[in-house]
Amino acid sequence: MIAYLECFVHENDTESRPDDDVSSLSEALDLQGSIHDCEGPTDEASRDFGGMNSLVPLAFIRLSAADDVARVVKAAVRSSNLTVAARGNGHSINGQAMADRGLVLDMRSLDDHFRVVRANNGSVYADVSGGALWEDVLTRCVSEYRMAPRSWTDYLSLTVGGTLSNAGVSGQAFRYGPQTSNVTELQVVTGKGEIFNCSETENSELFFGALGGLGQFGIITRARVLLQPAPDMVRWIRLVYTEFEDFTRDAELLVTRQDEDDSFDYVEGFAFVNSDNPADGRPSVPLDRDQFFDPTHLPRTAGSMLYCLELARHYRNTDDPSIVDMGVNRLLGGLGFVERLKFQVDLSYLDFLLRVKRAEEHAKANGIWDAPHPWLNLFVSKSDIADFDRTVIKKILKDGIGGPMLVYPLLRSKWDTRTSVALPKSEIFYIVALLRFTPPYLEGPSFENLVAQNKEIIQYCTKKGFDFKLYLPHYRSQDDWKRHFGNDGWSRFVERKTCFDPMAILAPGQKIFPRVS
Ligand code: FAD
Repeated sequence: MIAYLECFVHENDTESRPDDDVSSLSEALDLQGSIHDCEGPTDEASRDFGGMNSLVPLAFIRLSAADDVARVVKAAVRSSNLTVAARGNGHSINGQAMADRGLVLDMRSLDDHFRVVRANNGSVYADVSGGALWEDVLTRCVSEYRMAPRSWTDYLSLTVGGTLSNAGVSGQAFRYGPQTSNVTELQVVTGKGEIFNCSETENSELFFGALGGLGQFGIITRARVLLQPAPDMVRWIRLVYTEFEDFTRDAELLVTRQDEDDSFDYVEGFAFVNSDNPADGRPSVPLDRDQFFDPTHLPRTAGSMLYCLELARHYRNTDDPSIVDMGVNRLLGGLGFVERLKFQVDLSYLDFLLRVKRAEEHAKANGIWDAPHPWLNLFVSKSDIADFDRTVIKKILKDGIGGPMLVYPLLRSKWDTRTSVALPKSEIFYIVALLRFTPPYLEGPSFENLVAQNKEIIQYCTKKGFDFKLYLPHYRSQDDWKRHFGNDGWSRFVERKTCFDPMAILAPGQKIFPRVS
């Protein structure tokens, strides 16, 4: 088989008989799943949500179980140059799930393992496939067990393995930490093709390495996710601020309130332009078609950039509405938002968690979902966020970004620093997510200009010596990766790589380690 793979790679350079090649590769690997030839740069396996890169793999492999994953990885190890990329739902921005002439694994085709387990201590978990979409995990947990994972991403058409390889952050992370803090066991196929179960106490280095590990140490084929009882309903609230200082003061106050009875269940925030642009201006704030953002309610001192706190409070169908109102009003007491610019709706817990799905449908209909997405995600320390606002938000991004500009605080103590994620040093840091949507037709700046603007922002943060990290990082040189992880973090990252993927087979699209030949 090794000889066959070598031959396959070389022959593929010149003339191709794709159908023959693919069926022979399939036989050589003896998979329960199937292998598909890639048509070219427009093929699913060659693209991602970012829409700015395209690399054609040798083959796109549908898998049936972890054994298939192990077989493919072992075959790649025995070849001289093959790499293997797990592709979750391909929602990366910068080609992270691609493999140039390598083998791309369709993680969504893994068996849809789903089992709910109750531990002796009463905790309840869901064992799910690494290729499952979070939206499917949610609907099964709620409809079959009235339970739900505790920590989410805003958008749920992402795979379990894809978000756990990064962190997985949303408005619940202030209380429960990112998704990587809410799994207790993983099944992982390493870069040597070995299958391990791992947890805090068993193969712990692999467990913590894989969490936030950018796919570098193993392919997550199963995860055990902590559950909690699902609420029925959510009160979803948006509060407008004119001053960044007031916005951050209140946001920090809310995320440090940790008592469940005395805090919101979800805290996020965003910046928006004081304009009537529907994508990133005042009309992007109301939660319902019947609501209207009346700019005359803004104080005269309002500048060209405004801020919005986004909050949610869970409740049960059986809760008395007046008690829900009282509880929410008590939590809002003392906050410094513009009184007449408060928006709220009540919706089911499922509709709340699936809210971005509706935005996706809308964006697909007008073509912006499939256009390039030069997104930038950063973690910026509390000590630097005011300067970031003054220069980046108010000056560099003063015209908006055609989509949401998320800005909200997180607590470092809710993150397990044994995982591979790189974080700023301070206890409170902000996630800043520039979720740019560009029109699909020739209008506005090209995505290259927006990528250049992202670089300008990173350069500014670096020049000013900010305590910051890229989230969903993407660098091209190893020196940049070293800087990203810092001295100790980089040594640990390299040790883990040497131990679990010494030939650098896995996740070549991250561009951290070259394949060892
Ligand atoms: P892919 O893009 O397919 O893969 C990402 C990386 O992980 C690749 O390197 C890949 O090789 C590796 N990988 C994939 N599966 C596995 C596996 N099973 N085991 C090991 N490695 C694997 N992130 C947040 O934290 N919060 C958000 O609210 C949020 N919202 C988003 C909304 C949208 C519309 C988009 C496009 C992205 C969003 N993200 C968010 C970012 C998202 O979490 C990451 O891009 C994530 O990696 C995407 O998951 P995926 O399944 O598409 O992974």
